[in-house]
Amino acid sequence: MPRKAGELYIETQEKITFEISGADLEKVRHFREQHKNCFRGEVLEQFTYSFSPSGMGVALEVRCSCGKILELGDFAGAGR
Ligand SMILES: [Zn+2]
Repeated sequence: MPRKAGELYIETQEKITFEISGADLEKVRHFREQHKNCFRGEVLEQFTYSFSPSGMGVALEVRCSCGKILELGDFAGAGR
């Protein structure tokens, strides 16, 4: 799949790929910037991604190794 600039592709633990762009991408970048010093080398991945179905679609969670979670709402059509 060709990858465009300004978009981020994330594969969750459930092996579902989300395409993130626009305001959500900014939130993810901001979250990762805020947490760039959390990584201690004790875990394989600092950030883990998971999704949870919600009433409107699918919500994506980004969890830092420190335990903080960023929730992004409603990816219509993802996870099917
Ligand atoms: Zn953190």
